[in-house]
Amino acid sequence: MHWTEHTCKAFTLSYDDGVESDLHLLELLQTYGVKCTFNLNSGLGAESCWDYQGFPVRRLDLANNIHRYAGHEIAVHGSRHLDPTQLSAGELESEFTADKAALTKLCGTEPVGAAYAYGAYNDRVVEKLHSIGIKYCRTVEPSHAFVPQTDLLRFRPTCHHKDEALMPLLERFLALPDEGTPQIFYLWGHSYEFDGDGNWDLLERVLERVAGRKDVFLGTNREVLL
Ligand SMILES: [Zn+2]
Repeated sequence: MHWTEHTCKAFTLSYDDGVESDLHLLELLQTYGVKCTFNLNSGLGAESCWDYQGFPVRRLDLANNIHRYAGHEIAVHGSRHLDPTQLSAGELESEFTADKAALTKLCGTEPVGAAYAYGAYNDRVVEKLHSIGIKYCRTVEPSHAFVPQTDLLRFRPTCHHKDEALMPLLERFLALPDEGTPQIFYLWGHSYEFDGDGNWDLLERVLERVAGRKDVFLGTNREVLL
């Protein structure tokens, strides 16, 4: 957490699944100068598609698109996006260890973070991630808070972008004094939700509020949490 030497507030994003809608998200992040951590599934590609609110969701072919995430952080989300609590020891190995190795090969950097597919985890899964060098892993349970957390392998995000408390929480965060205890605003979601829900403007409102502020460090999860 080197940023705490300069300011006491940090904002970070966490978006999952590596889908085509990430491309528009990346454009907006570029426009506003905001960093994100993308949680990717190395074993799934363009053949993996589904429907969200009538919007056809397709994963990106990572081998041909990984360069688009340059400047952001890539983190583990499970090779095949399986519920890790349902996996045997051998299956956990291919879901996490192989995913980390494949993402390392794709990006040239070893991932240190992860997000639980379906938000599913238990002590056995946490221990597996710890054993392969993962330093933090995001759950889906909102904290509605900004204080730094100690149990980073059970990290609770501030909120999902569809949480009705999002904008009030953000305004409360921005109004905090810029001295004292470090404070972190951590927002997560899926970029395809903005397409399916027709609300990219919601994200733009958030990015507009945090962009260019001297009192808020804009970093990836790794930069903000570790
Ligand atoms: Zn996911």
